[in-house]
Amino acid sequence: MSLDDRFAVPLAGVDIDEQTRCAHYSTDRDVIAIRFPCCDTYYPCYQCHEAIAEHPTEQWPRDRFDEPAVLCGRCRSTLSVTAYLDCEHECPNCGAAFNPGCLTHSARYFDG
Ligand SMILES: [Zn+2]
Ligand SMILES: [Zn+2]
Ligand SMILES: [Zn+2]
Repeated sequence: MSLDDRFAVPLAGVDIDEQTRCAHYSTDRDVIAIRFPCCDTYYPCYQCHEAIAEHPTEQWPRDRFDEPAVLCGRCRSTLSVTAYLDCEHECPNCGAAFNPGCLTHSARYFDG
């Protein structure tokens, strides 16, 4: 697995662009990457993790929701799980619009 050196955090994925869009999610608003607790690496989506990581995907346990877990691909700041779930689809730092659809499958990432 090779990490993408354009970002300040460990990030991997399939066809990542400058703002963390990937081969699976590439609309204007798909500008976040999520850190996976199983490997402490950010991926644009779970499908990237499945394609690249050679282990099962783990979800964030509820008692770790205050740790940095979401990267904004536009300003490259990180949000905790709680901050992301509360941000109303907008980066609290730069105002980038996040895809509200991501939240509909957030149970894949976060133990809700
Ligand atoms: Zn992993
Ligand atoms: Zn992907
Ligand atoms: Zn941002």
